[in-house]
Amino acid sequence: MTKKIVVLPGDGIGPEIIAEALKVLDVVSTEMKLGLVFESGLIGGAAYDVYGTPFPQQTIDQVKAADAILLGAVGGPKWEGLDISVRPEKGLLGLRSTLGLFSNLRPAILYPQLADASTLKPEVVSGLDIMIVRELTGGIYFGQPRGVRVLENGEKQGFNTLVYTESEIRRIAHSAFRIAQKRNHKVCSVDKANVLECTELWRQVVTEVGKDYPDVALSHMYVDNAAMQLVRAPKQFDVLVTSNMFGDILSDAAAMLTGSIGMLPSASLDANNKGMYEPIHGSAPDIAGQGVANPLATILSAAMMLRYTFNEIEAADRIEAAVSGALDAGFRTADIYSEGTQKVGTAQMGDAVVAALKGSLHE
Ligand code: NAD
Repeated sequence: MTKKIVVLPGDGIGPEIIAEALKVLDVVSTEMKLGLVFESGLIGGAAYDVYGTPFPQQTIDQVKAADAILLGAVGGPKWEGLDISVRPEKGLLGLRSTLGLFSNLRPAILYPQLADASTLKPEVVSGLDIMIVRELTGGIYFGQPRGVRVLENGEKQGFNTLVYTESEIRRIAHSAFRIAQKRNHKVCSVDKANVLECTELWRQVVTEVGKDYPDVALSHMYVDNAAMQLVRAPKQFDVLVTSNMFGDILSDAAAMLTGSIGMLPSASLDANNKGMYEPIHGSAPDIAGQGVANPLATILSAAMMLRYTFNEIEAADRIEAAVSGALDAGFRTADIYSEGTQKVGTAQMGDAVVAALKGSLHE
């Protein structure tokens, strides 16, 4: 059976890093007979330049018909002066809402070879591998009513509403438990159930859902403690599941534990594990076109796609091991370079991963 992947390179370094991920996917698809089929499309500034909109109907039709989407990055100075409704970033939001991608997976992985890149002590973070599952389409970022009103005494008051329905909590909880089953079988649900009724319901529903997954150990933690534990002893976590705003904050903190933005992939999934996969970094206009960007976050996003949408665990494992192999061989792009290693460009790093991958496939 073929697996249809729509590839949206986007802007800035997007096309450069996507080219390397495609090299890697091509090798696993051919050698492991995965039947991956690629179709490219336009999003962000690249789409605006052709169609006058960052998420044109052609792309909407393509992503709806796809099994998975691999995206580079969007945005850049060229489009910053545009009206907010047609800015490149709107394309990304449009894609998430069109496909109902409510489950955002943000791993924080620190390869032992890069332990020096973190601001934390190497022994605290070396080998770190945690997954933050953030609810992406509900909570306080979307709750109504919201706004700024004028009170009777003439003072202004800003207000937002934290809302979650049981079904919204249930589906993100299922997503987290299923992911934990593919990892180390531990879920920590993060809330503020001692203060916020909405997250008291969150805790109840996650606990109920947890009964369906007896092979996964569930724990709960208040968000303030979770923030502290993430920088104190992050390796205690496997999967963290939390609401939109808490996840926004905690996932950035967790990403920074690794100190290397060019290494971190992400996924956004719907209820059927259809997903959009992209590096967490942006389009890096400052280095676009120079062939120096780190393609590893995008290559690792492709591995996540194989793991979570296509259930091709062995292929995903092999790609991740090949990334580790390229690092072991001493190859580093400029963003992760340190003395004693070999500085390479985007394409050379992709080639190094391909070489490690072929080596493992032909062992
Ligand atoms: P950025 O992530 O693009 O860049 C931040 C810094 O990290 C830059 O110095 C950049 O050179 C470096 N960097 C990023 N990715 C790298 C890589 N793979 N290899 C080496 N270095 C890398 O963030 P920014 O500068 O704040 O934003 C630039 C543009 O990207 C903006 O238009 C922003 O809106 C957009 N953006 C898009 C996304 C997305 O597409 N998901 C996410 C964030 C920002």
